Amino acid sequence: MRLIVAGASGRMGRALIRAVAETEGAELAGALERPGSEHLGRDAGELAGAGPLGVAVTDDALPLVAAADGLLDFTAPDATVALAELAAQARIVHVIGTTGFASAHVAAIEAAARHAVVIRSGNMSLGVNLLAALVRQAAKALGPDWDIEILEMHHRAKVDAPSGTALLLGQAAAEGRDVSLAEQSVRVRDGHTGPRAEGAIGFATLRGGSVVGDHTVILAGAGERVELSHRAEDRMIFARGAVKAALWGFRRKPGHYGMADVLGLHE
Ligand code: NAP
Repeated sequence: MRLIVAGASGRMGRALIRAVAETEGAELAGALERPGSEHLGRDAGELAGAGPLGVAVTDDALPLVAAADGLLDFTAPDATVALAELAAQARIVHVIGTTGFASAHVAAIEAAARHAVVIRSGNMSLGVNLLAALVRQAAKALGPDWDIEILEMHHRAKVDAPSGTALLLGQAAAEGRDVSLAEQSVRVRDGHTGPRAEGAIGFATLRGGSVVGDHTVILAGAGERVELSHRAEDRMIFARGAVKAALWGFRRKPGHYGMADVLGLHE
């Protein structure tokens, strides 16, 4: 499968290039960066520390998308929406790891998914997707008397909060309780907040250092507490998950899929 990596010089872009290079059945067909990037023209493999791959970094997406089978995209919301339109026109697989979307971005991606296979997840690792399944089950079993709080920590350069993974875990908890996350989530607490609202799903965000991604879902009852945690130690878990998702999506019918589909985690 011929794959393009968008945001090739980013933290995830470099990991994705290495993951494509090491995966049998996948081949690097292009590496994209934004116009003006200092990395344009460089060999993508050398940029990623994978040795020369004979693919130069470019800012011209159109010819790459026309000749590839899939696009791995961990960039930024506006860039992802623009790429989703191109991927839909070319009917190639679009794996989206980007986080921090507003609802208008999601609507544009859903429109693109009518014509192409879109696989989108705030976390592409097996461990977090298994954790989400466990959180759904725990929220369902323990019921609304147990308070749910989601704590996350990431490196100092992360630009969106709460993380896409924290929101994915919040969504799993909401599904377990059969409520809407949008109606129940409490994203910020500051000052005189009053007591905790019944049924709320709370988020707390920590930022610092080089932390790849830590998440804990706390279910707090009267006199006892359950904590479900995941710690990411290496970005390659997300990159390998993204390549796996692309291979899974190849020649599948158009639609908006998630990692639970790729990993077969639906009950
Ligand atoms: P990063 O190091 O900042 O990389 C982002 C890359 O995208 C950079 O190369 C950046 O180029 C490029 N980019 C940004 N805006 C662009 C635009 N408008 N047009 C073209 N290129 C653009 O960030 P990262 O840590 O790799 O994370 C990237 C995204 O993946 C974030 O949303 C993050 O939350 C998400 N993520 C998801 C998962 C998952 O499993 N789903 C895991 C880790 C991270 P410049 O440097 O020139 O701006």
